[in-house]
Amino acid sequence: MLCEMCGKDVEMTSRVRVEGTILRLGPECARFGELVDPVPAPTHVAPPARPGARPIAPPRPTGTGRRLEERDLYTDIGELELAPDWAKRVRIAREHLGWTPEVLGKKLNEKKSVVLKIESGGLHPPDALVRKIEHLLKIRLRAEPEGASS
Ligand SMILES: [Zn+2]
Repeated sequence: MLCEMCGKDVEMTSRVRVEGTILRLGPECARFGELVDPVPAPTHVAPPARPGARPIAPPRPTGTGRRLEERDLYTDIGELELAPDWAKRVRIAREHLGWTPEVLGKKLNEKKSVVLKIESGGLHPPDALVRKIEHLLKIRLRAEPEGASS
């Protein structure tokens, strides 16, 4: 689009009244006249409140973001009932496979510190992680009702 005042190729033109004539001008020249078209950009001036109309409040940030973060830390206790020595079972099985806590962590998509916390019993793994550990180490962490072979 060409600005009708300076002839420059501009991205967009606005209808501007300059000395009684309406011209299509680029943003640089538009300020020399009086805009005819409504400004396309949203105005920052709030429209006058109509009687009975409720003021539109800006959306307030909610706590959802924080809650998601908390869910990442495995603070919740899983539904599965784990064997009393589940932490020990993890460590023994891992050592049996010759894996370092780091290796197990990588396979579980967890940090080494998470593995160490689980093995020390300081972190109760959520159900999904229990299943992953059981699958990877080929062990059972859950309390088994029918005679455990140990
Ligand atoms: Zn121009």
